[in-house]
Amino acid sequence: MNKLNNFSEITAAHILHAAAQFGTPLYLYDERLIAQKCAALTAMPNAFGITVRYAMKANSNRTLLKIIASHGLLFDASSLNEARRAHLAGASYKDIILTTQEFPDGDDLADLKRMMLAGMKYNACSLSQLYNIGTFAAENEIKLAVRVHPGTGSGESATRNTGDEYSCFGIHLSDIPAATAYADRLGIILDHVHVHIGSGASPEAWRSNIDLELEILEKHFPKAAVISFGGGLKEARMPDEKPADIQMLGEYAKAKIADFHKRIGRKLHMEIEPGTYVAANAGYAVTRVIDKKKNGGGLNFIILDGGMEINTRPLLYGSRHPFYVISKNGALLSSEFTETAGDNLYEAVIVGKCCEAGDSQCLDADEVNIPRKMAQPERGDIVVIGGTGAYCSSMSPMNYNSHTQVPEVLLTADGSLRLIRKRQTLEQMLENEM
Ligand SMILES: *Cc1c(COP(=O)(O)O)cnc(C)c1O
Repeated sequence: MNKLNNFSEITAAHILHAAAQFGTPLYLYDERLIAQKCAALTAMPNAFGITVRYAMKANSNRTLLKIIASHGLLFDASSLNEARRAHLAGASYKDIILTTQEFPDGDDLADLKRMMLAGMKYNACSLSQLYNIGTFAAENEIKLAVRVHPGTGSGESATRNTGDEYSCFGIHLSDIPAATAYADRLGIILDHVHVHIGSGASPEAWRSNIDLELEILEKHFPKAAVISFGGGLKEARMPDEKPADIQMLGEYAKAKIADFHKRIGRKLHMEIEPGTYVAANAGYAVTRVIDKKKNGGGLNFIILDGGMEINTRPLLYGSRHPFYVISKNGALLSSEFTETAGDNLYEAVIVGKCCEAGDSQCLDADEVNIPRKMAQPERGDIVVIGGTGAYCSSMSPMNYNSHTQVPEVLLTADGSLRLIRKRQTLEQMLENEM
């Protein structure tokens, strides 16, 4: 049935319908795949219970937040606005943890206090953040979380490693004694220990973080009841990549937490905070071919009506995303996940329409264009960029070159296409200019 790949329900016909109905470029999301991911995560092995929080910075569309919450996930917010947004999408503040680099003061601090009184968990990410909220927490007997910087991390690139010596997230291990002494002095209970080592961490790094974090918790946090291992579960966006084995990681965490209970007598509740794993492969950027050209060096270029402003990950990280070529009349001409007519494939570089040499979907980590094999599209044919459900719409340098923010469409579980965010208009783009 012309399915784009073996993991989602989306077919070439869905793509064509969405493009005809809503125009390109657009994002298309697969509700069934999101539901499957949520179910797999909440079923992860655990010793004394597991809470799965969706790291909403991956994709904060209100409809997706509602779907994800309906499958039992809570939220990890990375800013006060994200917490407000989750709340506007129907989440109770009790279901949100705030882990942020922001330092709230003035109205924001007052708002943060209201949210905390309503049950939002505050994860102190620096000593000054802890001191900023400490008296209020003590007076109201609110227990706090602490994000620990473990001094070692892992990620798919240096810029996605949030745990090593080059990263500035969390309270560094060497400052933890100061944090716990302060909490003791004020009578604040630190009941939640959090480490997020990075995005797309290797399984070995994920496992060794479990060991390290349990050691840190045992040494410094005698009242901790919750241990959060953060996010970073790797998803395979390309056919040659391997996703995190969440069954195996769950079994590992379960054994370690059970062992901790045996030795120390405390039952720790486990939390994880996946963003990528929930949403990445459920999203497709649907674009149209607006031009083709060659350069003197022999590269074939395919120019799409959407590029770095809808998927900036290749430019940021040298990330690879799969391409699907679909003809104007809906034939799937090539997919990197299925066998396609080998003869017609050629090598091309896919670029967008921004005046920016880095507006390419084919950059490697050294920012060099690496041609990829695909069917030769004609102008007006469709190219779909897969793996764009996480950190694409939410991370977009939108409005660069005055391109408007693109719409988001959902293929619902019952198979219909539903617009969940409209295309921005030029007037909206300009409305705050004086
Ligand atoms: C970004 C982030 C996550 C999610 O990371 P993924 O790689 O998308 O799973 C989880 N926790 C925190 C604190 C984060 O900053």
